[in-house]
Amino acid sequence: LPFDIMTIKRDKRALVFVNPAGGAGKAYRLVMEHVAGIWSEAEFNYHIVITEYAGHAREYVKTIELNEWSGIILASGDGLIYEVINGLFNRKDWQEALTLPIGHLPCGSGNAFITNIIRHSKQPIETSMEKFLVQSAILIATHQVIPFDMAVIDTCDGQRIFSFLSIAWGIMADVDYESEKYRFLGETRFTVEAVKRILRPRIYNGYIDYLPYDVTDDTVQTNQITSNTTTNGLSEHLLPLNEPISIDPTTSKWRRIDGPFAHVLITSKAALSKGSISTPQSTLTDGYLTLQFIRIHGSIRLNLAKAFTKLSDGKHFNYDFVEWMPIRAFRIVPSETNGNMMIDGEKVPYGPIQGEVLPSIARCMGK
Ligand code: ADP
Ligand code: MG
Repeated sequence: LPFDIMTIKRDKRALVFVNPAGGAGKAYRLVMEHVAGIWSEAEFNYHIVITEYAGHAREYVKTIELNEWSGIILASGDGLIYEVINGLFNRKDWQEALTLPIGHLPCGSGNAFITNIIRHSKQPIETSMEKFLVQSAILIATHQVIPFDMAVIDTCDGQRIFSFLSIAWGIMADVDYESEKYRFLGETRFTVEAVKRILRPRIYNGYIDYLPYDVTDDTVQTNQITSNTTTNGLSEHLLPLNEPISIDPTTSKWRRIDGPFAHVLITSKAALSKGSISTPQSTLTDGYLTLQFIRIHGSIRLNLAKAFTKLSDGKHFNYDFVEWMPIRAFRIVPSETNGNMMIDGEKVPYGPIQGEVLPSIARCMGK
């Protein structure tokens, strides 16, 4: 079916996971108070499962009977979405599993997924958390489904994981990880930690290899996926992580950027959280990843402060010292052995990491 006429099946129920740890512990009450009425009015059918531990939703979706459900909704932050999507990719029938649309009710400290979906629907995002939740519930109740891009990632410990949002190295990774202790502050935790890190900036040594995105390149990933492609066969352009990539311009399209860096971020979406637009030109299905970075030159404190204050509307891309480009694949090779590397806000082992865009591979509830 073409995506533009896909809708959520009304005769089935959506599986809703509520993270009791999310939304300062109020997720279940928020859903009952602000969402249940809208969904009953719209005849949107659902079944609630309250997660009992971190990793519960990931385990749960590994064994669900796909035909029983119209989709999966996460009443949580982005952490639970990451869990569920990776759970679906780890099924043998991952291709069919990924046809289940994913919905998001914002109940966490980072709510980037629904922010990007609402952005796609061209509505302004509600400022209060309650109205934001209602806005998301209404969007889900329209029963509509749209595709979105993801990235396949290989980490240095040999894992293959799937990212719907971001790969962060440098200041963003440090801010994301080190702000965990301020979780009770909600989204403000990122600001508090960012200010600390801007005042005491770190330098990240290493290099980034990347394959530029070229619209005329017809080796678009999804065209090659057949019904028996395993997730190991999902990348078109990645070598094993221990094999060097040729950057010889006469034989290879890969290029290299040498550090040191202050900021390195690769995204498949525009918004990193409700209050920030890290990648202003990005859409749900642009078919590429956006690499952005700040190198060490000039006054690094001043540059970081300038970039950070413009992050709310994506205007940091107007500064010359913020370099960015659309890419199809990348490999980051840090020189140091210790540090933070974050995928979708989750810490992964530090070391070389690589990835490639998976255009329109998954579906979400939105319009
Ligand atoms: P936030 O945006 O605040 O990070 P998330 O929904 O991302 O909120 O949740 C944070 C983490 O909580 C996730 O990594 C998830 O695995 C974990 N989690 C889910 N259910 C539970 C639970 N019942 N108890 C503790 N942690 C949980
Ligand atoms: Mg999270």
